[in-house]
Amino acid sequence: MAISNRSGVRRLLFSAIGLVMVLWLLPGRAPVAPIERYHLSMGTLVKLVLYADEDMVDPAVDGALAELAIVDSLMSRYSLTSEACRIGALAGKAAFTASTPLVDVIERSSYFSRVTGGAFDPTVGALSVLWNFPEAMAPPMEASIDSALALVGYEDLVLDGDRVFLRRHGMQLDLGAAAKGFAVDRAVAALEGVGIVAGLVEAGGDIRFWGRKPDGEPWRFGIRHPRVADCTVLSADVGLSSLATSGDYEQTFEFEQIKYHHILDPATGRPARKTVSATAWSTSALDADILSTALFVLGPEEGMKLVESHDEVEALMFYEAAGRLEYVYSGGLSTALQFPDCARN
Ligand code: ADP
Ligand code: MG
Repeated sequence: MAISNRSGVRRLLFSAIGLVMVLWLLPGRAPVAPIERYHLSMGTLVKLVLYADEDMVDPAVDGALAELAIVDSLMSRYSLTSEACRIGALAGKAAFTASTPLVDVIERSSYFSRVTGGAFDPTVGALSVLWNFPEAMAPPMEASIDSALALVGYEDLVLDGDRVFLRRHGMQLDLGAAAKGFAVDRAVAALEGVGIVAGLVEAGGDIRFWGRKPDGEPWRFGIRHPRVADCTVLSADVGLSSLATSGDYEQTFEFEQIKYHHILDPATGRPARKTVSATAWSTSALDADILSTALFVLGPEEGMKLVESHDEVEALMFYEAAGRLEYVYSGGLSTALQFPDCARN
């Protein structure tokens, strides 16, 4: 239809402005630009990206941070009063009645211990204490690695309802590969619970996002290249809410020209050597966190088998072969990943 005169144009303009204003005033709208907040929690930098009205943000962030603090207080291996440490203190003697969040994390960790044949093992605690990352500057003595290794074994972590028991005296829990992911899940639940329609929480490489961005733009994620500084592999949204990365560059030291890092292979008691970095996608940040560590220890071959045997799990793994950095990714990522020039060998 042609607009024949100026008043017609004006009418059209006014009704368009009116429509925009009505849409703007509709309840539940979220501003197009997200509000970003950064906090230190669980020994790492936590980033919150919220599509929400300014006045909702402060109380919502407080609620999310409270969740992180609760998880930390239950699961930290650095606090003697955490439930995880108290379970260790009772090892070989008595069971501990654990709170629901801890039971959930132990249950999931035990499941992945079983399906990885112990490559993922939440009872690596004695080894973790011995290696003492991130402070360590030299590897422990061989003999002490052997004695710590004797205190590792997921089969001796018993969960019976809410009763948790480590069968052997000296065993210790280390939930460092799972707790952050679980905390991110809890933080996101809190933010969704107070009506934040879209956003993202990231804690030390563990990410969970929810909702649609108000500007209609799809979610996109940057995955750090493990060997090239400031180089990022891009990923589109693959329909899974969470992703987490474990890398050999996170907590490291070099001793006599050998690099050591904090992800330990329970088969050897030493840093796992088959992988350089592993990123896992899943439906919860807890699973993604556990899986990234599990895949890292398993290496690309076994790791990809584990990925293929689970629905709603995808992974990208970097590894070294014949002195070159190689990568492999699962089928569901085939059109999602974008490797910039800096990521090519
Ligand atoms: P980050 O904490 O650096 O993000 P991860 O999620 O991979 O990395 O967790 C690494 C932590 O997990 C270690 O610091 C240690 O506490 C614990 N850990 C190390 N090796 C294992 C393992 N084989 N199975 C389970 N947990 C592990
Ligand atoms: Mg992990």
